[in-house]
Amino acid sequence: MSWRDLRCGEVRSEHVGRRLKLAGWAARRRDHGGLVFIDLRDHTGICQLVVNPERAPEAAAAAHETRAEFVLLAEGEVSRRAPDAVNAKLATGEFELQVDRLEIESRSEPLPFQLDDEGVDESLRLRYRYLDLRRERMQGNLRLAATVISAIRRYMDAQGFVDVWTPNLTKATPEGARDFVVPVRLQPGRFFALPQSPQLFKQILMVAGLDRYYQIATCFRDEDLRADRGFEFRQLDVELAFPTREQVLEVIEGAVVASFEALGREPPQRPFHRLSWHEAAARFGSDKPDLRFELEIQDMTAITRSSEFGVFSGASTVRCLTVPQELSRSELAELESFARGWGAKGLAYLVFADDGQVRSPIAKHLSTAELDAVRAPPGSTVLFGADEPRVVERVLGALRLHLGKRLELVDEGRDEFLWVTEFPLFEWNDEEGRWQAAHHLFTGLEPGHEHLLEGDLGSILSQAYDLVWNGWELGSGSIRIHRRDLQARVFKAIGLSAEEAEERFGFLLEVMGMGAPPHGGFALGLDRFLALLAGQPNIREVTAFPKAASGSEPMTGAPTQVSAEQLAELGIRVIPPAQ
Ligand code: ASP
Repeated sequence: MSWRDLRCGEVRSEHVGRRLKLAGWAARRRDHGGLVFIDLRDHTGICQLVVNPERAPEAAAAAHETRAEFVLLAEGEVSRRAPDAVNAKLATGEFELQVDRLEIESRSEPLPFQLDDEGVDESLRLRYRYLDLRRERMQGNLRLAATVISAIRRYMDAQGFVDVWTPNLTKATPEGARDFVVPVRLQPGRFFALPQSPQLFKQILMVAGLDRYYQIATCFRDEDLRADRGFEFRQLDVELAFPTREQVLEVIEGAVVASFEALGREPPQRPFHRLSWHEAAARFGSDKPDLRFELEIQDMTAITRSSEFGVFSGASTVRCLTVPQELSRSELAELESFARGWGAKGLAYLVFADDGQVRSPIAKHLSTAELDAVRAPPGSTVLFGADEPRVVERVLGALRLHLGKRLELVDEGRDEFLWVTEFPLFEWNDEEGRWQAAHHLFTGLEPGHEHLLEGDLGSILSQAYDLVWNGWELGSGSIRIHRRDLQARVFKAIGLSAEEAEERFGFLLEVMGMGAPPHGGFALGLDRFLALLAGQPNIREVTAFPKAASGSEPMTGAPTQVSAEQLAELGIRVIPPAQ
């Protein structure tokens, strides 16, 4: 016995006149008194069933009983629809099944939402995810993900990478987020951590001689959830022995191209653009600039240093954005409050009006040389940031993105891939008043910068690189430290005592003392990549069962409490959260 001879969306002219069995869900039912029409759906599409009580009285009874999302088995003869009944939008729109037998195989309760309603609240969608996933768009997203992942695997295999599984119950590896910890029944009071990434294992695999490793790895980070971030996510995790930076970047570019090709899309031009971190910050105010539009930041500091306008002469940096539009007073007021939200103290501007006039409260304070230096064509507005470089970059970077969207400067049809390189090795943590690794602690130093470990930590550059697609960070990587003494100096530089370093990373230092080859790698955030490939606004749309923004899993209700016995076994007592 077989349940079906064809999928619902596969009915074509060669089937006309044949008896066939179809199975699927009742997407829609139209009861015309006598005839009943049912759209039978599966993941391939829809086939129209026609149930005629004269032809098949029992089937007609079942058809009357049928409600939305009942699972039906239908048998009958494929025929051509009457010309005026053809639905040109459907691949099966010229055909229908004249039903002889119809069975209700499984029933459905009344639905919490209609499957063709696109405006359903996300919490309801996640609560009834299995219904949500029946929709065409979600089916498309999950299938696109599978297509891309299998193309990536084929590509990595062909490049000689070995897929190695690494543990999920492990010791905390620092990627800068909080760990999820797992209690251990056999050792009460001790905890595993779920890996924030397989970072140390992949490095150790290089020491172990694997040469080229990859894995589609699940990573766990206890962070606040956002559009591009979940508690758990997947990475294409990669590591190579004896690589140059270029070789790592080439491998990742190849994986991106293979993904585009698997989807039948024009792949991005290779090699991808490169920008140093410093240049990205200076020109675009961002370490993940969206290059689909120009609107570059210009540095005016050299000219404004001796300005009579105190805000300019008193600031360590003055930079500006030239917007190709004459902005109104109310638009400028709105932009100023936007800029304040990003930490600006105000927003100085010059409007070069269409009539040739310069409109601005600050124009009278500026010299002709200053005005000439920023002069823009009539019908433009120059917006200034005057502050410390970090603040100016943040504010102008945010304004740039905001205006790019608002003024529709972004060319949505373009794909801009970009490598950002030469990041600083350390960044200052204001809250904790200490230096911390900008990426992770195993990132290699720019050759020649080693001596700065005992000096100006802020000026050390790293061999880290990030991949950016249309302003989204897709992932990071680096050439690593492979010498034990250098690794120990990095631990020391961020203030880890020898004992702390030994306790947390002793095993790694030991590994590095047993013949560690130069190595480097990358991790591509798959969920972000897939969301962008699928044209979706967030990673939940390409994830079968994502957490809600609250961090819970609405369908199963996880996380839940565990029984007192379980806790006792684990040696754990729960302190109820304060109300
Ligand atoms: N483990 C790093 C991360 O997850 C990536 C890498 O350095 O390869 O961001």
